[in-house]
Amino acid sequence: MSPAKPAMAMEATRETARGPMEEDAAGRPARNAEATTSGPEVRVSGVALRYETRNGPVQALADCSLAVSGGSFACLVGPSGCGKSTLLDIVAGLAPLQEGRIEIDRRPDGQPARLAVVFQKPALFPWKTVLGNVLFGLDAQGIPAAEARERARRFIALVGLGGLEKADPHELSGGMAQRVGIARALALEPDVLLMDEPFAAVDAQTRALLQEELRRITAHSGMTVLFVTHDVSEAVYLGDTVFVMSGRPGRILRTISPDAGQRDRSSGAFARLTSEIFDLLAHSAPANARPGARE
Ligand code: ADP
Repeated sequence: MSPAKPAMAMEATRETARGPMEEDAAGRPARNAEATTSGPEVRVSGVALRYETRNGPVQALADCSLAVSGGSFACLVGPSGCGKSTLLDIVAGLAPLQEGRIEIDRRPDGQPARLAVVFQKPALFPWKTVLGNVLFGLDAQGIPAAEARERARRFIALVGLGGLEKADPHELSGGMAQRVGIARALALEPDVLLMDEPFAAVDAQTRALLQEELRRITAHSGMTVLFVTHDVSEAVYLGDTVFVMSGRPGRILRTISPDAGQRDRSSGAFARLTSEIFDLLAHSAPANARPGARE
């Protein structure tokens, strides 16, 4: 099964220069006080993608638009199968752009923004240590060995794995392995961090801990983060901005900028906002997918 058109359209429409914001692009998010101003803005305008499958075409995304402020943390939340991963892959350049436009601001030095992606499964090299896994991307970038080692150790410590540099992946729990995956991405010092359900496979307690750490690590980093999840609570806790997606074909239903009170997991405001988003998702689901509906 493959997308209907080849990846060629990507080059024509995927830009990294600062360009005018489309008037109709969905809600430019308000910048959160915690966020810095340094990261690139990411703009998605009118993106659509259709997969051709054995059973006919599947319209994964239709007229999908959003804008992530530079240095902010944006969550894309929606039901399974609504096209979240597809959209993230398009922004990452891993899936073709059939329709629409992706723009990512350039770095202050005029170079294209650096992107890093964290997936649900970290896919570590089993024959390399924790340090070796984090070093791999740095070596590939040609970073001098001493600097690469210092950087890798720094980010391993940042994700709470200091002292485990020589451990092998099979010695790690799922949560620890995902921390290595995050350290590996952060060590590349990306301008834009793209995360696709990175905590979906870890237990609830570890997930809460990893969410807290990610929020701490990214808060003043200047990185622009786009984080995909189907977990509404996770999106509200993490997101300066929450983009709520409709069921397939995915499009942005609403853009929400939770305030500090709404992001406090113990508050009534948090419970009210998550419940509001659940309602929104329930009403956007196809009729046969709503609770109580018959096939
Ligand atoms: P989400 O991340 O929201 O769960 P995806 O982006 O993975 O959704 O998928 C959106 C829709 O596109 C789903 O219906 C899925 O089955 C379909 N899809 C995803 N990847 C492919 C593919 N490579 N070929 C065909 N259909 C696909």
